[in-house]
Amino acid sequence: MTAIAEQKRVCVLGSTGSVGVSTLSVILQQSDRFQVFALTAHSNIDLLMEQCRVFHPKYLVVTNPDLYQALSVRVKVDCLGAVVMSGSESLNEIVSHEDVDIIVAGIVGAAGLDSIYHALCRGKRVLVANKEPLVMAGDFLVDVAKKNHATILPIDSEHNAIFQCLSQCVPPYLHDQGISKILLTASGGPFLNTPIDELKNVSVSQAIKHPKWEMGRKISIDSATMMNKGLEVIEAHYLFAAPVDTIEVVVHPQSIVHSMVQYVDGSTLAQLAYPDMRVPIGHALNYPHRVALNVKPLCLEDMSSLQFQAPDFKRFPCLLLAYESLTKGRAAVVGLNAINEVVVAGFLDNKIRFSDISILIESVMTDFNASNPNTIEEVFDVNAAAREFATEHLSKFKAAEVYGGV
Ligand code: MG
Repeated sequence: MTAIAEQKRVCVLGSTGSVGVSTLSVILQQSDRFQVFALTAHSNIDLLMEQCRVFHPKYLVVTNPDLYQALSVRVKVDCLGAVVMSGSESLNEIVSHEDVDIIVAGIVGAAGLDSIYHALCRGKRVLVANKEPLVMAGDFLVDVAKKNHATILPIDSEHNAIFQCLSQCVPPYLHDQGISKILLTASGGPFLNTPIDELKNVSVSQAIKHPKWEMGRKISIDSATMMNKGLEVIEAHYLFAAPVDTIEVVVHPQSIVHSMVQYVDGSTLAQLAYPDMRVPIGHALNYPHRVALNVKPLCLEDMSSLQFQAPDFKRFPCLLLAYESLTKGRAAVVGLNAINEVVVAGFLDNKIRFSDISILIESVMTDFNASNPNTIEEVFDVNAAAREFATEHLSKFKAAEVYGGV
């Protein structure tokens, strides 16, 4: 069999985001193993065109319908031959295509859920980078994967590390393997040591400047509040069928140990690497094989110390809110994710202060009531209701600030 015949065809959802760019960098290095079948982006058609020239996908999707015409013209002028599609429905169509082997799901926020669901229904291997779909509907997605012989592989660095530390792994669901604890590491973000009373004055540009990882704006804010870690606790709970009280967060500012698994017999396994998304992506793309990747190998002699400490819930109340939501049930978890998206967007738009993020999320969570969803459709309903509710609260919160009220 030739190398070409073994090539897997990959669809990259969100190819112009940080996960998409890292994925394409891996594929470029391993072009004998992978070929790009489709690329999708929301609005950055300049970068999408550049990627199209290098990877020659069969399909290009721009989810913003206003850009369909412009992209179609540019593809035609450059004689690239890719079929251009538009709108979020096109994503479902592309991931379900019979010629697609692997889907890399890197779409920010809740928007990625529908396409992941469709891919799993068609028995595909789905590499999940965006945590919101697993947070919103992790148990449903795991069930859908089981029923359709599909595979969910995590490329969120922590979950990929846990996956690598599990000895008898049968993805996507893991049963009792003698695990006593999952230790999720967290860098602590840019404000790990900032005095708490100074947090109200931090700007958007300070908050999006993560010390170790370069990421999108929303996830950078989530890292600064540690909501990101809270969402990862939820993600781990569903993905690895791990009880909440077995998942612990450990602050590790160097971001070298990406997570650990502790076993009942006294062993703790860890996965170490420099912070580079290409490592978890390369692992999941090639799983169960290990294939050479041109990334900097770890040099332990260069590291004077690796530090670990317990998280300070007073500094990071969002982390506590995430744990609490898991004890309340599915509606609270879906609500938390949706409310967080709205509130973080409010901070990015300079409508509220950084320290207001957790205050506002907590107050909206307290008042938000919904029945626990039992289907993916109901998840979308709860998500929409929570977003609407949070948007209303956000506008009132802003008014209170402006007029000096409450
Ligand atoms: Mg992560």
